[in-house]
Amino acid sequence: MNKDGHVLNGLLFGIGVGFLLDPSGKETTIISIIEVTIPVTLGALVPDIDTEFGRHRKTLHNLPVLGLFIAFPYVFGNLHYVWLGVLTHYILDIVGSKRGIALFYPYTQEYGFPTGVATKNSYTNVVTLAITAGELVVVFAVVQALARYGLPVA
Ligand SMILES: [Zn+2]
Repeated sequence: MNKDGHVLNGLLFGIGVGFLLDPSGKETTIISIIEVTIPVTLGALVPDIDTEFGRHRKTLHNLPVLGLFIAFPYVFGNLHYVWLGVLTHYILDIVGSKRGIALFYPYTQEYGFPTGVATKNSYTNVVTLAITAGELVVVFAVVQALARYGLPVA
């Protein structure tokens, strides 16, 4: 997926998650959307930094890197939600583009689904929107499940 697709995916996914975390429709909903959308969008741009150094779709497209972004807020108390942007980038690359990513780098085998389209295909935006919608359905289900069991969702 290209940079435009990752920005579109990060923005829409962040807005959706921010809304799902506070769907009250009050001022707090706007705050939640801003609080989530900006770090998610920034996180969605992080993996492709490896186009400038290292090996693209390998160095910053793997589960250890995702693990670091998941752990970072617990250790240092900031960069919350950035990991969601990194994760949504991986999903878009795996499901939405022809080439996979090296999830277990430094093992260099790339993993991807046969569902992807070429980066500059005319269906790229449609695929990006469909994947984003699917991701938000999953987030909705997770938020509902957590709420059902009285667990904190944010
Ligand atoms: Zn990528």
